[in-house]
Amino acid sequence: MKFTTEHNALRQTTRQFVEKELNPHIPAWEAAGRFPIHDVFKKMGELGLLGICKPEENGGLGLDYSYNLVVAEELGRAACGGVPLAIGVQTDMATPALARFGSAELREKYLNKVITGEYVAAIAVSEPHAGSDVAAIKTTAKKDGDDYIINGTKMWITNSLQADFFCLLANTSDDKPHVNKSMIIVPAKTEGISFSEPLDKLGMRSTTTAQVFFDNVRVPQSNLVGAEGMGFMMQMMQFQEERLWAAANAVGGLDRCIELTIDYCRERTTFGQPLINNQSVHFRLAELQTEVEALRALTYQACEAHIAGENVTNLASMAKLKAGRLTREVADSCLQYWGGMGFMWDNPASQLYRDGRLGSIGGGADEIMLGIICKLMDILPKKQK
Ligand SMILES: Cc1cc2nc3c(=O)[nH]c(=O)nc-3n(C[C@H](O)[C@H](O)[C@H](O)COP(=O)(O)OP(=O)(O)OC[C@H]3O[C@@H](n4cnc5c(N)ncnc54)[C@H](O)[C@@H]3O)c2cc1C
Repeated sequence: MKFTTEHNALRQTTRQFVEKELNPHIPAWEAAGRFPIHDVFKKMGELGLLGICKPEENGGLGLDYSYNLVVAEELGRAACGGVPLAIGVQTDMATPALARFGSAELREKYLNKVITGEYVAAIAVSEPHAGSDVAAIKTTAKKDGDDYIINGTKMWITNSLQADFFCLLANTSDDKPHVNKSMIIVPAKTEGISFSEPLDKLGMRSTTTAQVFFDNVRVPQSNLVGAEGMGFMMQMMQFQEERLWAAANAVGGLDRCIELTIDYCRERTTFGQPLINNQSVHFRLAELQTEVEALRALTYQACEAHIAGENVTNLASMAKLKAGRLTREVADSCLQYWGGMGFMWDNPASQLYRDGRLGSIGGGADEIMLGIICKLMDILPKKQK
C-alpha cells in the first residue's frame, strides 16, 4: 500500500481528533455507559471523517477505501473500543448498502445526514435466536398499500438507544431464506418501536447496545434499499466492509497497547532493573509486534484487492479472524506485564482485554470466518457446502 500526502494528512487529522476530542473524555463516557454521540459525530462530520468513501453528491469525499482504512486504523488508537465501534457502525456497517444501492431520494434523506453527523445510524440484523445464522432471522416486513408493516425483535443493536434510523434486515416473502430478505431504512422515532434497557456488557461500555422491538411498525415501501429479496446478498456485501474496517481498527488498538506496555516496562523496575530488560519480556513484545505487522499487511492486501474491485470475502474473513484472535493474545500478554496495574479497570491493557473480546464474536464469529475460508478453500465436507 502506497500512502500519499493526502493519506498522511487524513491520518494526522484523525489522530488529533482522537487525542483531543475523544481520549480526554473516554473515562467519563465509559462510566456513564454512553457518549454524546450526536455532538461527536457532528464534529467528525465537519472534518469530513464520516463520508470518506461515500458519494460526493451526498456530501461524501468519494475517496477509495485506502483512505477509510487510514481513518479506521487511527480510530483504533482511542482509549476504548466502544466509541470507535459506534463510529464504525455509522460509516462501515449500517450505511455501505444504502450508499451503493439506495435510491437518490433515500440517500438524500438519510445518507446526507449520516455524513454531516446529524443522524446516527444503527444496523439491525441480529435477533435473539439468530446471530451467526443471519438467514434464520424471523422479523417480517409485510406489504400494506404503499407501506411495509414490520414485526420482530432485534438483539444487541449498537447505537440503538441514540439512533435516528435503523438499517433493518427483514423477511419480505416466504421464499427461500437467502432470497426472501430485504433491507429497509426505518426511522427510530416511528410508532411501534420500543427498546430494552441498555444491555450490561463486558466491554464497549461507552456505546449503547439494546434490544429493539418492532410492533406493527409502518414505513413507506420507498424506504427499501435496492431490490426486494436482495437484502441477504447486500448484507453479505456490507459485511465485507465491516470486516475490513474491524481488522484495520484492531491494528491501531494493538499498536497502542504494545506501545503503552513498552513505556510501562521501561519505567517499572523489578529486582533492580527495568522490566523490559528481561529477555522473556522484550522477546514477547517483539513477537507480538511482528504479528501485528503481519495482520497489517494482510489487511492492506485485502484493502488493495477491494479497491481493485475484486471479491475480498476470503481476505476480509482472514483479516477479521486474525484480528480477533491477535487482539485476545496481545491484550492478555500485555496485561500480564502490567502486573497488578493490568488488573485495574482503567488500565489500557485491561480495556483492550474487555473491549477487544467482541472482535471474535461480533460481525461474524471466528468460527463463521473459518467456515467461509474453508468453503473458499474447497475443504468443507459436501453436505456443509
Ligand atoms: C456488543 C455487541 C454489539 C453488537 N452489535 C450488533 C449490531 O449493531 N447489529 C447487529 O445486527 N448485531 C450486533 N451484535 C450481534 C453480533 O453480531 C452477534 O452476537 C454475532 O453475530 C454472534 O451471534 P450470536 O451471539 O447469536 O451467537 P450464536 O450464533 O448463537 O453462536 C454462538 C457461538 O457459537 C459459535 N458458532 C456459531 N456458529 C458456529 C458454527 N457453524 N460452527 C462452530 N461454531 C459456531 C461461535 O463461537 C459463536 O460465538 C452485537 C453483539 C454484541 C455482543
